[in-house]
Amino acid sequence: MRLIIDVIACEANGACTRILPEALELDDEDQLHLRLAVIPPELEDKAERAVRVCPRQALRLEPSKP
Ligand code: SF4
Repeated sequence: MRLIIDVIACEANGACTRILPEALELDDEDQLHLRLAVIPPELEDKAERAVRVCPRQALRLEPSKP
């Protein structure tokens, strides 16, 4: 799975980074960045939780391209 960030919608509250720090981080300017191009299977449950917890619906999961 790939995690997609809507940087316009993101309000940088850090809710998702606390759930999935392996893949998401906020920089010093409150810009959210992906640390992983692909979410590995062992992190998919946490990625789904990170998507659900976002109050701005700024994250979504998509299937990885083959
Ligand atoms: S939870 Fe949503 S609004 Fe908050 S930092 Fe993550 S993507 Fe941005």
